[in-house]
Amino acid sequence: MEHHRQEMGPESVPLVASRRSVLQGAALSLAGIMTGSGATFRRAAADEAPRVETNGTGEAPRPFQGLLENEGHAYHNWGLSHETRPAVYVEPISYADVQAVIGDPIRFPTPVSVVGALMSVTRTVVNDGGTLLCTLKLNEILGVETDAAGRSVVRVQAGCRLKKLHLWLQSRGLEIPYQAEIGEATVGSMAAGDTKDSSLDGPGYFSASVTALTYVDEQGTLVTLSDLVDEKAFAEFKCSYGLSGIIVECLVEVRSARLCRSRFTVVTEESPQALGATIRRMHDECDALFVSVAMESLRALCDQRFSAGPGVKTPAAAQPVFDQMRLSRRLNIQHGAKPDPAVKPPPLTHDLVYSRADLVNEYWRPKGDEPRLDFHYYEHDLSNLGRVIEESYAFTKQFSKEHGFAPHAWAIYFVRRLPATKKPHGLYSGGSGISVSFDPVYSNPVDPLWQQFAKAYNEVAIHSLGGRASPIQTQWLTPADLTIPRQLARDRFTTKYYAQFLG
Ligand SMILES: Cc1cc2nc3c(=O)[nH]c(=O)nc-3n(C[C@H](O)[C@H](O)[C@H](O)COP(=O)(O)OP(=O)(O)OC[C@H]3O[C@@H](n4cnc5c(N)ncnc54)[C@H](O)[C@@H]3O)c2cc1C
Repeated sequence: MEHHRQEMGPESVPLVASRRSVLQGAALSLAGIMTGSGATFRRAAADEAPRVETNGTGEAPRPFQGLLENEGHAYHNWGLSHETRPAVYVEPISYADVQAVIGDPIRFPTPVSVVGALMSVTRTVVNDGGTLLCTLKLNEILGVETDAAGRSVVRVQAGCRLKKLHLWLQSRGLEIPYQAEIGEATVGSMAAGDTKDSSLDGPGYFSASVTALTYVDEQGTLVTLSDLVDEKAFAEFKCSYGLSGIIVECLVEVRSARLCRSRFTVVTEESPQALGATIRRMHDECDALFVSVAMESLRALCDQRFSAGPGVKTPAAAQPVFDQMRLSRRLNIQHGAKPDPAVKPPPLTHDLVYSRADLVNEYWRPKGDEPRLDFHYYEHDLSNLGRVIEESYAFTKQFSKEHGFAPHAWAIYFVRRLPATKKPHGLYSGGSGISVSFDPVYSNPVDPLWQQFAKAYNEVAIHSLGGRASPIQTQWLTPADLTIPRQLARDRFTTKYYAQFLG
């Protein structure tokens, strides 16, 4: 295995030790803050505005060198459906900056919540009056190494976007199994949050490949956890949405790159029962399946994926068909599957060999009058697929009859679950098995009928069908819909949005 190790910047701390004290000392001395074991010294504050307050501990606050904005600006998620006005917005440029923020509750009011690319569709990004910390400037890829278990892992900072990571790995003949079409989402968000992808030879959620991580805890201390040393605490942390601490760096398992062969088929069925049976059969025939369903017409575009052997880039023989398909899919996702009569979709390709990493997209930040993706996520066990389709079909038909509204499409992903010890809470925590997500998709997040549809469908999907929801991928959740274990949350990081779900 190729062994890369780039120069580490002063803000980088190796993920080798797990003992908090060792790391704290190493990190603080690297940051120029601590010069003797266990002692924290005041640093000459030439690089920060003069202040007289202390942080409540009698110590002077640490300097913060990144971008700081406290003039009352509003921030929005990508879909412009949620706005927040934090008292302070920060973009740290070093791990010491993140520590400085957490350690100074006067200058950086509680709660401190962390965001990456703000691509989430829910109110997870809302933190009015608190401190919103954006990791996008902590985006280095530090190298590939071999961990103590002999695994090849890439060391990457939390604010690195997935497309950047995919490109970097491709240039070294490597990949991660999680290759959903979202390029902007950041490593830190995906390591502690919820994701889905119909992955080839992999579980289908990003955090499954994360083998170690470093975060800043509520005391401002850098802590490292790994699956080898701290299995339980590490698995729990990966279910914590930033409530246990702010991730700054991860180790993610990599493998040699492989190609995918997709077989695309369009099917139209006469009943939801028949559609359920067809999707189930197609799933059993291939290595990974993704389906997009137009529910009212029971028409489905099925993408059956097969491993197609080693390979890094989409073969020249598949061009330009692959690129046409890629651009058409990118536009479709950007526009939330809204049909556009002016755009003629490329003819359906029945069989295509390509690199999945090449199909990962960048999406432009839309304006409020543009069609843009919005969706709601629900996880079900595969054994429930037939019932999920039948009841969702009945609900959609009835809603359409009463209100003249239906989502443009439903996206179906299949995710392999690991043992519950590896994913103890939230999505995919039901122990080994296969999950299916069944997500309605629309093109205007602020359309009142879409919001009404989503709120009513939450009742069906969660309470009638027993589906699991995600605080970062399912909207309009109430405390009755979701419980996040209280032990995962620290006051310093808990926003009002998250407080309602703790139990
Ligand atoms: C066009 C589009 C396509 C999408 N496609 C997919 C898809 O195919 N598959 C899929 O799974 N999702 C998809 N999504 C959803 C999106 O990718 C996820 O919500 C993802 O988590 C967003 O990443 P982010 O960096 O923008 O997170 P943000 O929205 O910035 O933050 C979300 C939350 O993550 C947590 N968090 C962020 N950074 C950290 C950190 N450093 N430490 C701890 N916690 C942190 C916090 O709870 C935060 O509120 C899509 C969204 C859009 C808009």
